[in-house]
Amino acid sequence: MENFKPLLYEAVLVAFGKILAKYDAFTQGVIMRDIGKEIIDYLNGHGFDFSESGSPEDLNTLIDLFVKNGFAESLDVTPADKGDNYIWKNLYGISAYKELYDLALNPFLACPLNLCMCYVAGKNKKKLVMHRKEFVNDSITEAQYELVDDNTPDANLDELVLKSARLFEIADEKQKLFHHQALTDTLTGLSNIRCLEEKGKRFFNRAKEDNTPLAVLMCDIDFFKQVNDTYGHCTGDDVLRKLADIFRNSVRETDIICRYGGEEFVVLLPNTPEHRAIEIAERLRQGVEEAVFDDGLGGHIYLTISIGLNPNGEQAETLETAIQRADKALFRAKHEGRNAVVVWHN
Ligand code: GH3
Ligand code: MG
Ligand code: MG
Repeated sequence: MENFKPLLYEAVLVAFGKILAKYDAFTQGVIMRDIGKEIIDYLNGHGFDFSESGSPEDLNTLIDLFVKNGFAESLDVTPADKGDNYIWKNLYGISAYKELYDLALNPFLACPLNLCMCYVAGKNKKKLVMHRKEFVNDSITEAQYELVDDNTPDANLDELVLKSARLFEIADEKQKLFHHQALTDTLTGLSNIRCLEEKGKRFFNRAKEDNTPLAVLMCDIDFFKQVNDTYGHCTGDDVLRKLADIFRNSVRETDIICRYGGEEFVVLLPNTPEHRAIEIAERLRQGVEEAVFDDGLGGHIYLTISIGLNPNGEQAETLETAIQRADKALFRAKHEGRNAVVVWHN
């Protein structure tokens, strides 16, 4: 479900591009017939399996398919009108499926569609005119496109295509930024749990396939509650940020440091043998022990962390289990007096 939305965006764009390029014309029936199939083919080619329901012949069956498979909540399709703007109307036609509706209204995501339209408009010697109009209700505005015969298509079309291409670049950058933000912890700038689920699983699977050691570290600040209680939550947050810097400076850029909970961090070290992982864990522990944290009042705070290390995470059934094992070792480190690295063994 997590990966479905961005992939669906992509699928819709690719499908529209293909359909428009293939038919050279805005033929509503054709688009209605093929777009669903293209979208499903794309999704099926990217790890989803909608095959059991056959190939959807129009947008209604497509949405029905999403509803049946739990990817959409309701089915409320408004029939599309014929007219110059009916590609957009087709998108409204699937407005019940919110993700697609967002796509239609998102000026960034809509740009590649604009580009596809320019392409077709050029082939048909027509001019694509964009209007901005109110639509649906006062809070939603939509861009409307109109195709008109054009005697001097090239100049206008060039300009439109260039404009679209630039916007597409912006859209692309925005998408990358959104993606980065979605995977980043806002307080520390470290990876968040979602990132661990995505990227960490890839690390885990690769380590399993290649049979290379994946070291999993579970780190937790000792007596952190006291820092908050004594100096306040803001100082506590500053400490977490500085701690994140220490972590960042102690491992490779390709390793994953994830803020797993409030003051708990999971570190994944791919392709790292046990003795090396112990060295790195010790370096982290020592780095924090030697660091001087500001208390926000001109004074200093000294801290320690405890670390549980599972040196062969790839041997667990799942990444979650590998992390749980590191957590068990952490539990021991806490009970054995804290400020220590404890290695998990069978
Ligand atoms: P232990 O050595 O057993 O780990 O003791 P502890 O005090 O660190 O453990 P405990 O789990 O009791 O407390 C964790 C504290 O972390 C509680 C909470 O106030 C603090 N904390 C969690 N998230 C944040 C955060 O985002 N900012 C700040 N400032 N504090 C946080
Ligand atoms: Mg804790
Ligand atoms: Mg703690």
